[in-house]
Amino acid sequence: MHELGIVFYIIDDAKKAATDNGLTSVRRVTLQLGEVSGVVPELLGDAWKWACAREPMMEGCELEVEDIPAVTHCEACGTDYGTVEHGRICPACGSDQTYLLRGREVMIKQIEAY
Ligand SMILES: [Zn+2]
Repeated sequence: MHELGIVFYIIDDAKKAATDNGLTSVRRVTLQLGEVSGVVPELLGDAWKWACAREPMMEGCELEVEDIPAVTHCEACGTDYGTVEHGRICPACGSDQTYLLRGREVMIKQIEAY
């Protein structure tokens, strides 16, 4: 399960950040999640609850998810467009010389602990 692996990674990071700052309990983690990251937010939420219940430092910790829309850039005409709506082909000029600008992120933005 992909989501559980991500959750373990986030929890390790959050615990390390809290410990480094002399804190014992993580209250909230804010995660940035790209639209085409392949992570299912519902599964992530379930995995989060399951994993946090097994970690004393993480007990009752909230996971806040910020969605990042996927954007593709066209090298041929310079247009930025929505990846999910249009895919790899630029809607402005029809070129396939495009690359993903953002939308694959799975990134911790903020950790709150006390
Ligand atoms: Zn174009």
